[in-house]
Amino acid sequence: MMLEINDLKVSYGAIQALRGINLTLTEGEIVALIGGNGAGKSTTLVTISGLIRPLSGEIRFLNEEITSIAPQDIVSRGVIHVPEGRRIFSSLTVEENLEMGAYLQKDKAAKQRDLEEVFNRFPRLKERRKQAGGTLSGGEQQMLAIARAMMAHPKLLLLDEPSMGLSPVLVEQIFDIIQSINEQGTSVLLVEQNAQMALSIADRGYVLETGKIVLSGAASDLLHDPLVIEAYLGG
Ligand code: ATP
Repeated sequence: MMLEINDLKVSYGAIQALRGINLTLTEGEIVALIGGNGAGKSTTLVTISGLIRPLSGEIRFLNEEITSIAPQDIVSRGVIHVPEGRRIFSSLTVEENLEMGAYLQKDKAAKQRDLEEVFNRFPRLKERRKQAGGTLSGGEQQMLAIARAMMAHPKLLLLDEPSMGLSPVLVEQIFDIIQSINEQGTSVLLVEQNAQMALSIADRGYVLETGKIVLSGAASDLLHDPLVIEAYLGG
């Protein structure tokens, strides 16, 4: 099993954000985690990344417990998080942002090859390689955030609302990119409010409501589930 979460509970002071969730992800899968505002989706990702310590429960990656190890050790095992709101470095150029994603790579030639590979996948970023990150459009910044994560050779990519604030055309583009990254071997845990898009590219999905998983199954089944249709697909 690539990722296994057992009875995970997380609190922010008095607020219980996760009330004992279970989730698995098999190597090669795209798993969607959907749910409304405040359901606990982002909390799930930051807890996997080690940025927040759970109250209780267990997180295993490639059959090893990672629940209480340091965030940088989780990164070095191949779990890369693209946070909500695309936190790129706005004063650094596109190229410098990408290099930051490869900080663990000490081999300069390999880093250069990775950069060229990322530029092939994202030609828009190649054209803008010397431009400051903060001057990119929203969609380009989202591409840069994903491209930067790819520089770290993720085994598991944690994506937090990649469609946020993007036009429908750009959302399509971003989801195509996620799908092609997955086809080339990266597993993806995808957090989304856009349930329709997320479930259309996912293998399986989980529905989170106020800190609890209320439904899970094959993405194609969830797309036809009355609860999902009613609550997340606009009736
Ligand atoms: P959204 O889609 O709106 O981003 P989400 O499903 O990602 O929502 P979380 O961000 O995980 O939800 O939040 C879960 C709950 O935890 C919410 O009630 C939120 O207010 C609370 N919460 C999140 N971060 C903090 C924090 N740093 N301090 C206190 N409470 C927090």
